[in-house]
Amino acid sequence: MPAFNRLRLPEPFVCPNCHQGYEQILQFTYGYAWQFDYEIGDTVNWRKEPRADEGVPGAGRVYVEAILERACPHCGHDVPWPRSAFEIELRKDVIVAARPGIHHVTHTRQDRWVVAEP
Ligand SMILES: [Zn+2]
Repeated sequence: MPAFNRLRLPEPFVCPNCHQGYEQILQFTYGYAWQFDYEIGDTVNWRKEPRADEGVPGAGRVYVEAILERACPHCGHDVPWPRSAFEIELRKDVIVAARPGIHHVTHTRQDRWVVAEP
């Protein structure tokens, strides 16, 4: 069963089609993946159970693949990958940033996150 968490972007996301801004949510699978809602500055939850957890608890710096959750509410444009791709940066389980684009992960099913500092 695919499960994921959500991160609210701190700034409005600007639609590449109609150029209007709207609140956007990123979906990502890291930590205890169970539809938790996070914001920048939050600490991810762990269940401490291998089947429920994704990633390495307490790692120094981690990049996690993320994707925009929904289409533009103004024009209905569904942002295609890779423009819908983001990376979330975590330091010791704290979500410190979310940036558009793929910079560290290779975007395969085996690599949805990468530990940059143990
Ligand atoms: Zn739009």
